[in-house]
Amino acid sequence: MARYKCPFCDFTSSRLYSVKAHFKAVHYPNLTKCPVCGYSSIKSKLLVHFLSQTDEEHLTLAYLLFGRNSGLHFRVKKKLRDVALRTLRIKE
Ligand SMILES: [Zn+2]
Ligand SMILES: [Zn+2]
Repeated sequence: MARYKCPFCDFTSSRLYSVKAHFKAVHYPNLTKCPVCGYSSIKSKLLVHFLSQTDEEHLTLAYLLFGRNSGLHFRVKKKLRDVALRTLRIKE
């Protein structure tokens, strides 16, 4: 069975959305800048920053961050989920 890993610690789960929930509960409160490029901004703008980039590292973070009321189009959410399924999966 596939497992997914948090990019910031050793947390793993067989469910991608559990990794997302973990990230939002544990890491998001401490996030003050982009972990990929160091871009620093207020929290509410970080998601916009992640979404404005095209590399998979940023898009994975966008997946982990967007919430229920993000207003993102379902196609965007699906794309982000597809990226995260690939990048967070633990390779056997
Ligand atoms: Zn973690
Ligand atoms: Zn960045």
